[in-house]
Amino acid sequence: MAFPLPPGSTIGILGGGQLGRMLALAAARLGLDVVVLTPDEGSPASRVVEHTIVAPYADPDALAELARSCDVVTYEFENVPAEVVRTLLLLDAQVAPGAEALRVAQDRVEEKTFLNAAGAPTVPFAVVDKAADIDAALPDLGAPALLKTRREGYDGKGQAWVKAAADSADAFQAVGGVPSILEGKADFKRELSIVAARGRDGELAYYPISENVHENGVLRTTYAPAKVGPAAQREAERIASEILTRLEYVGVMGIELFELGDGTLLVNEIAPRVHNTGHWTQDGCEVDQFELHIRAVAGWPLGDTRPMVTVEMTNLLGDEADGWLAIASEPNARLHLYGKGEPRPGRKMGHVNRVGALLTPEAQP
Ligand code: AMP
Repeated sequence: MAFPLPPGSTIGILGGGQLGRMLALAAARLGLDVVVLTPDEGSPASRVVEHTIVAPYADPDALAELARSCDVVTYEFENVPAEVVRTLLLLDAQVAPGAEALRVAQDRVEEKTFLNAAGAPTVPFAVVDKAADIDAALPDLGAPALLKTRREGYDGKGQAWVKAAADSADAFQAVGGVPSILEGKADFKRELSIVAARGRDGELAYYPISENVHENGVLRTTYAPAKVGPAAQREAERIASEILTRLEYVGVMGIELFELGDGTLLVNEIAPRVHNTGHWTQDGCEVDQFELHIRAVAGWPLGDTRPMVTVEMTNLLGDEADGWLAIASEPNARLHLYGKGEPRPGRKMGHVNRVGALLTPEAQP
């Protein structure tokens, strides 16, 4: 099938969580069908699509069915096993974003090495394969430093602070004794992010920077557009453009940033997918991040990413979603629930976008 994919084409999504659900809803609005592959029965995404393949990601029959039935396959989480993408490509499936973006995003050492080579500054770091590597790196990085597993950490999991060389054995054990990275501490003033996209023809699009507040390593609130000057927006767009272009990326990417006291932006990490800090765009922008991603992978023009209003996005964690009735009766609040059954503590059950002032063209970043 040639791009752009016409309405009536089918998009495959690996993963059945809330991001897959919101991608599927955006695809439906554009007349595109979605097939979800997830190991979980009754997933949030499968509740809004006609067809779900319930199987482990690496199941050969499931991947064959996905490749056969979809014009392009995308994903909603970055830990898609490399073999899954390899298998899909061998089956002549189109996969976007591509394998290189996954390889880079799945390993924090590969990621920072790539970012620095792309002119995107990060905190200094050292590779840790044993506790003694921490002792060796600490004088250069300074204490405290943050030990993180190279792979599969998210929302602050698999991390331990090292306050002094005496902590190194405990810290290494705390992250499971697996290959890790020791990061210098970022003395950040604020946590920001930029959500950006690249189309099949190389077209780039950026949302305004948002400001993000985390609690216990989990995103709590996003304020957007962030109160930053034009220089910060330009620098974030420069960073995003280098990353997306070098990866020949197709789709939406979330880029988490630390803003230092002097205004320097460092990249914390990249997520090769739609991003929680971009949920505000659903009610704040002409084209939201989910539609933007679908447009990109389907080879459509990216559309307009300009903000129309200010938005405060708050995640509804655990039983906070039980307050749906009060939120639904608030003026200017747009409620998004994910259709998850069990409100386990800390589980992302939904989010609310509280819409603020209208942005005049002059006020737009
Ligand atoms: P991550 O899982 O890498 O996104 O880290 C989760 C949170 O830990 C971030 O949002 C920051 O608040 C904090 N953090 C991560 N890396 C660093 C660092 N090198 N220095 C200071 N804080 C950090």
